[in-house]
Amino acid sequence: MKRQYDYLVVGAGPFGAVFAHEANKRGKSVLVIDRRNHIAGNMYCETKDDINIHVYGAHIFHTSIKHVWDYVNQFAEFNHYVNSPVANYKGEMYNLPFNMNTFSKMWNIRTPKEANEIINKQRAVISGGEPKNLEEQAISLVGTDIYEKLIKGYTEKQWGRKCTELPAFIIKRLPVRYTYDNNYFNDRFQGIPIGGYTKMIESMLEGIEVRLGVDFLKHRDEYETLAGKIIYTGPIDEYFDYSEGVLEYRGLHFETERLEEENLQGVAVVNYTEGEIPYTRIIEHKHFEFGTQPVTYVTKEYPKDWKIGEEAYYPVNDVKNLDLYAKYVKKAKIVSNVIFGGRLGGEYKYYDMDKVIASALELCKKELDK
Ligand code: FAD
Repeated sequence: MKRQYDYLVVGAGPFGAVFAHEANKRGKSVLVIDRRNHIAGNMYCETKDDINIHVYGAHIFHTSIKHVWDYVNQFAEFNHYVNSPVANYKGEMYNLPFNMNTFSKMWNIRTPKEANEIINKQRAVISGGEPKNLEEQAISLVGTDIYEKLIKGYTEKQWGRKCTELPAFIIKRLPVRYTYDNNYFNDRFQGIPIGGYTKMIESMLEGIEVRLGVDFLKHRDEYETLAGKIIYTGPIDEYFDYSEGVLEYRGLHFETERLEEENLQGVAVVNYTEGEIPYTRIIEHKHFEFGTQPVTYVTKEYPKDWKIGEEAYYPVNDVKNLDLYAKYVKKAKIVSNVIFGGRLGGEYKYYDMDKVIASALELCKKELDK
């Protein structure tokens, strides 16, 4: 039977958009659908008062994958933003990631040797053996002061559980830098697309038919038969109607406000690391693009439990969920005309944008250049 399109792409996030762009470039007919009323997935930015608001949480593009950096630069020009968040602990301000600026402020010291000595002394509180929980793991990596002021409250809010009840593996490593360097990422390339992410994805999807507000799973009969093959970037368990069980996520709730002032916090990201404040971060969006508008938009980010039907943010990669995910992968292998991809469809793990784009380009090679 002749199908109307070569490919149906479910999800207009970066994974779907890259695949659609590459397929279209190779002369394939493509239809992209998304159940939201906008493109760009979680990278979506809404523009208000000339400020691009990161609607699904702060998104900073950073990568060490040269071909991915070159790839995204075809669709947008990137600015020179470098993520240098600040932590607010009961009104004390500390630079992140943990580096000489943090240590100097915390202990009034000057040299890496002094910092190293203090951290080593504090680490000794944990006596040998494998750390039994996240608290022990964190102290064994950075000592007690940094743990108490900058990790404990933040992590407990993030996961909704005490650090002593969280598994150690959640923080295998913590970035500790014995240099005066506030750049959060170690990657070679970093920036924000000038004009926002939505414009960048728009440019990828130029010339491609896109239908918004269409949920593939609610219109399966109609859409399944439209194309020879389907690229599905939604949640894998939802595709199979949760037949094996529900994969768990942590949720987020955002509260955005417009303020009649030019500059509220002087930096894009402030982490609130004490347990008593219910939100984890305040994002001041204009600073991603060095905005000078007379007003500002800020978003408070509240972690929360997640349930079916809500936006899935952070996968809970414990043994139970990973086993469940493996069952779905097995099922997915049997569905011959559907390719599962992206952060929800292909992998049940936290996935930065550059890795998602790299994985979509990998798929393009396998699927379109064979
Ligand atoms: P998504 O962007 O989620 O797109 C999937 C799309 O599929 C969605 O638009 C959805 O509506 C659609 N869809 C799902 N099911 C259906 C269906 N049944 N029918 C139709 N459409 C459907 N990465 C970074 O590199 N830097 C950062 O700073 C960063 N910050 C982040 C902050 C937060 C709070 C979060 C949660 C993630 C962050 N990320 C960051 C990760 C980034 O958001 C992801 O890598 C990226 O969005 C994944 O792209 P995707 O296309 O796989 O999925």
